[in-house]
Amino acid sequence: MVGRMRRQRSTKIVATLGPASSSPERIEALFRAGVDVFRLNFSHGTHDDHRARIEAIRRLEQRVRRPIAILADLQGPKLRVGTFAGGPIKLVPGAAFRLDLDKAPGSAARVNLPHPEIFRALRPDSFLLLDDGKLRLRVRDCGADFAACEVVTGGPLSDRKGVNVPDVVLPLSPLTDKDRRDLAFALDHDCDWVALSFVQRPDDIADARRLIAGRAAVMAKLEKPAAIERLDEIVDLCDAIMVARGDLGVEMPPEDVPILQKRILRTCRRTGKPVVVATQMLESMIHAPTPTRAEASDVATAVFDGADAVMLSAETASGDYPVDAVAIMERIVARVEHDPLYRRIMDAEHADPEATAADAITAAARQVARTVRAAAIVTFTTSGSTTLRAARERPDVPILCLTEKLATARRLSLCWGVHPVLTEDVHDFQELASKSVAIARREEFAKQGDRLVITAGVPFGTPGATNVLRIAWVGD
Ligand code: PGA
Ligand code: MN
Repeated sequence: MVGRMRRQRSTKIVATLGPASSSPERIEALFRAGVDVFRLNFSHGTHDDHRARIEAIRRLEQRVRRPIAILADLQGPKLRVGTFAGGPIKLVPGAAFRLDLDKAPGSAARVNLPHPEIFRALRPDSFLLLDDGKLRLRVRDCGADFAACEVVTGGPLSDRKGVNVPDVVLPLSPLTDKDRRDLAFALDHDCDWVALSFVQRPDDIADARRLIAGRAAVMAKLEKPAAIERLDEIVDLCDAIMVARGDLGVEMPPEDVPILQKRILRTCRRTGKPVVVATQMLESMIHAPTPTRAEASDVATAVFDGADAVMLSAETASGDYPVDAVAIMERIVARVEHDPLYRRIMDAEHADPEATAADAITAAARQVARTVRAAAIVTFTTSGSTTLRAARERPDVPILCLTEKLATARRLSLCWGVHPVLTEDVHDFQELASKSVAIARREEFAKQGDRLVITAGVPFGTPGATNVLRIAWVGD
């Protein structure tokens, strides 16, 4: 039998699958190295590619008998220029360059930008960023079908390079036609989380939620300045947040990104929304077997900031060392979490409970677990909400989450400290206590003589009614 090996850390690891990581053997190796959530990036690959990955993950999940989350990351309204007639051009600072709706191949003087809504939203003095922000244009004049720009930062420009427009709120839905097709596919294939790219307004999330209708949990990627301005409302409306530092770092100056990361993480920690720190975490490992010490420090900072998860993108999707990248990330995370400073920071930044029974019980559970040196806190949940509140407490012991809902178990594998276990319904507290003890032993969270702190809602089956805390003794 394949062991049920538990993770020796609380911060989770998300890894993106791509050409370097799609065989069932590679996916299993990534899981064994520490991946908790697999990300499918719908900016790349066909539905057949994604279907094969999903099938491999679900087969693995059965074999290892551990719920694994799949995150479907939708491309969103990624803007791109058209193509050039004679290969790449070179933009020179001070020169004029025009973007327009004309589909004819571009030249050194102009190129197609097939997005009329952008031309409507631009104003003189708006900035346009090309090719991940490497090139910068200032709008001099614009109309319904063109923008006449001046090159501020020059360089080469080739076919279909990306365009970012940081300082205007674009009249674009975060769900393009392609996203809608990808979303339908993701929901049909039981993906657990859907990530929305380039969210600008709270309404973007409300719209997506109506389409998703509870079939997956919703993660908002923060990568637009407009979204940061309405951070609190956006965090309120979604189920989780991704600090998407790639595009965020294009649209905002680099010196803003660390501050924003801290601000977003604090907001999420206060509200108890899971938060993922993403992009360039171990970037040099795309081509090298070890990270730079600055990258190790970046991963450590995200963990110290209290992130629920850290993410790998190209490192695992197309890099030369995908399994090594996960293994090193795992080591950095575990090392930080076992340092006494980590516990001191988690305690110092601890958010006060809200005035609800669930918060009162989960806050007490954290205290009791510390006082009696419990081996784990056990939560029993249907919707997952009680377990999320327990994770918000950042207790110093793992949170064993028992649920009879597979969707809940999978989703919660993204969350800090949570070890979800699928179990049948329980009917009374005695049954819950004996089941908690048996599962804690089986999953290697407790041994004879240990104590568990169990929380639940009585009567059973009332969602959100956590009102009981009990200490259970692990006998023989
Ligand atoms: P992406 O999102 O990899 O889909 O662009 C993450 C980011 O922008 O950081
Ligand atoms: Mn992005």
